Amino acid sequence: AEQDALIVVSNRLPFIITKNPLTGDVERKSSAGGLVTAVAPVVAQCKGKWVGWTGVFYGPNEEPDPIPEADINDKTPTAGIKAEQIVPVYCDEKRFKNYYDGCCNGGLWPLFHSMQDRAVFSDDHWQDYVAVNELFAEKTVEAIRNVREANSNVTPLIWIHDSQLMLAASTIRELSKKDDIPIKIGFFLHIPFPPFDIFSICPWSKDILCGLLECGVIGFHTEGYCLNFIDCCHRQLSCRVDRSAGIIEYKDRHIRVRAMPIGIPYDRFVQLAEEAPRVIKRTTETVILGVERLDYTKGLIHRLQAFEKLLEDHPEYIEKVYFMQITVPSRTNVQEYQDLKQEIDQLVGKINGKFSTANWSPVRYIYGCIPQSELASYYRDASVALVTPLRDGMNLVCKEFVACQTGDPGVLVLSRFTGAAELMQEALLCSPYKIEEVAEALHKALQMPLEERTMRMQSLQRREKKNDVNTWMYMFMQAMESNLLKPDQKI
Ligand code: UDP
Repeated sequence: AEQDALIVVSNRLPFIITKNPLTGDVERKSSAGGLVTAVAPVVAQCKGKWVGWTGVFYGPNEEPDPIPEADINDKTPTAGIKAEQIVPVYCDEKRFKNYYDGCCNGGLWPLFHSMQDRAVFSDDHWQDYVAVNELFAEKTVEAIRNVREANSNVTPLIWIHDSQLMLAASTIRELSKKDDIPIKIGFFLHIPFPPFDIFSICPWSKDILCGLLECGVIGFHTEGYCLNFIDCCHRQLSCRVDRSAGIIEYKDRHIRVRAMPIGIPYDRFVQLAEEAPRVIKRTTETVILGVERLDYTKGLIHRLQAFEKLLEDHPEYIEKVYFMQITVPSRTNVQEYQDLKQEIDQLVGKINGKFSTANWSPVRYIYGCIPQSELASYYRDASVALVTPLRDGMNLVCKEFVACQTGDPGVLVLSRFTGAAELMQEALLCSPYKIEEVAEALHKALQMPLEERTMRMQSLQRREKKNDVNTWMYMFMQAMESNLLKPDQKI
């Protein structure tokens, strides 16, 4: 049989396009995320397509710029994708903001993270969510026709990503019915899927379920999210379901629901850790490390309070240990995020004011984005990684820390409410809401004998190395019954 042709559909393209406002030149900058690393080579190899928004707004009378080819010096996997394989989605600014800032970030993000009190639902935003999903679907159908014209034997395999595009599959199916082209559609959700009581708060919960059920395969990070989704289909749409087999019956089709925990490009992080220059002096400094975007789901306030509690209960750590927090600016135009930033700034100031001595301050706080090559140095030399989101679909930071621990093994303190915790049982698991429990886990981590640290870290490392991002890619292709990757062909 002919090979499938992979068509990836995601909100953003696998690179960033910027337009120089003075010269009007467009530039293409590859993104280095793990997902792109795993998926881009497959798209390149099967002459597939990538449908996504370019990141540039064009007015109604403006001609969109052509997609540039990759720079000749670009050695990242994305460089293998030719401009002709890119299917750009254009959208005017107002509609895009309603869809993305309004519906996705203002409504779906908090709700799916079980923070329903923060979720704002507006009919206007939803209308644009529907419209933008249709835009993406139309572009995808164009891509389907293109790959079939190039080769009439291939089966287009459409892989839709994440909460921004939960309705796209239904329009894709509807429009491509007329063409009579056999297609397979799969979807992967990169954030949690909440329980029924929370999900059904969304005024459009049924539309979302129906949109997703037009796919043949729906992937989530954990078994827990799969069961939540199946339960919602059963209770809201009265679908017949088989929970243990992960099957939902809908319109006489059988939809497969699968847990596929995403991994990281493990070997790349090991290599980065081996090459990274030293920033922390592990022999004289004991560092507790926190790394994430500034987001209310990440539990930063609770975490700072837990570190404060540690210093209160165990003054022996004063001048011995410090907490290094790297926080990446995120959604900075949103009031809620500005307020959170202020609250964090104040708490850092308060803790430093309370405990600092002439030669030492307890919290070192970096507000900015650090390249992964440098991050690897912090991951390698930290004694403890403190990863305590209130809710997180998976969390990659804890996995990257584990991969980079190439020296004296440190300890991972991990929130139970991350997708990662479902498998990473050798971490010190805690509830981020229990300040004392987190403080005690920190104390335990700092006191842990070498033998126990080694055992725990080795098990964590073995699992993450085996279940890396390429394995995830392979698992999804397997579930789609695709012939695109063979086990030994895992790139
Ligand atoms: N990251 C980075 N620079 C930083 C902080 C974080 O490149 O200064 C990266 C980090 O390596 C990781 C990602 O941001 O790959 C965060 O992913 P995660 O799943 O933990 O959280 P998300 O931001 O997706 O909610």
